[in-house]
Amino acid sequence: MSQSSIDSEENLDYHIKVILLGNAGVGKTNLINITIGQGFNEAEKTTTASSFSVKKIILNNQEYRINLWDTIGQEQFRQLTKIFFNNSKIVLFVYDITRKASFDSLPSWIKDVNEQIGNDYIKGIVANKSDLYYNEEVKTEEGQELTKKIGGKFLLISAKHDDPKKFEDFLVELIMEYISKKKRVDSRNFSITKRKTLENTDKANCCK
Ligand code: GDP
Ligand code: MG
Repeated sequence: MSQSSIDSEENLDYHIKVILLGNAGVGKTNLINITIGQGFNEAEKTTTASSFSVKKIILNNQEYRINLWDTIGQEQFRQLTKIFFNNSKIVLFVYDITRKASFDSLPSWIKDVNEQIGNDYIKGIVANKSDLYYNEEVKTEEGQELTKKIGGKFLLISAKHDDPKKFEDFLVELIMEYISKKKRVDSRNFSITKRKTLENTDKANCCK
């Protein structure tokens, strides 16, 4: 599949918008960075460019372009524009297990999204910074409980220490749920044949 055919209008169905929400400092930017191969960053810095990162995944011989949208610091002021939520297929609500306030604010993030785009999107709750378990302020069960309540999937992770594959696998699980829901077929029919990032596209297509 050539780059141009991937990006053409008729393939927009294969572009999946994923947004990460949650208080500033919970690790959203780092989760995205490890997923696209940019590694973990120790420095506390606010994302400044408004953009999304792209991850390409092939499921059942179909290439999907996963657009991972990061907030650019507006989350500090809860000033995300409604446009940011629009067309999201998957929303990941992220909290920091060492900061109860970040968990307590999730219901209002969920409410904001639901008010704007309805309730018909795939939900994930991500409990980040599991490496700091000794400073835990939110029990895993609390995260799982909320996840059950909203009908989503739960992930306990450390963006810092876990294999990035852990987050990627979670993402794939949610994407498969989205696709199977959309196509109304059992997600077990999907097999992951190959994965690659945008950077690998040319190389992967070189010998066809
Ligand atoms: P964002 O504001 O939600 O985008 O959060 P960042 O990704 O910028 O991370 C905020 C701070 O938390 C940074 O100093 C990161 O290095 C740190 N951080 C992010 N994830 C983890 C993690 O899993 N463990 C630890 N110990 N620190 C983390
Ligand atoms: Mg950030």
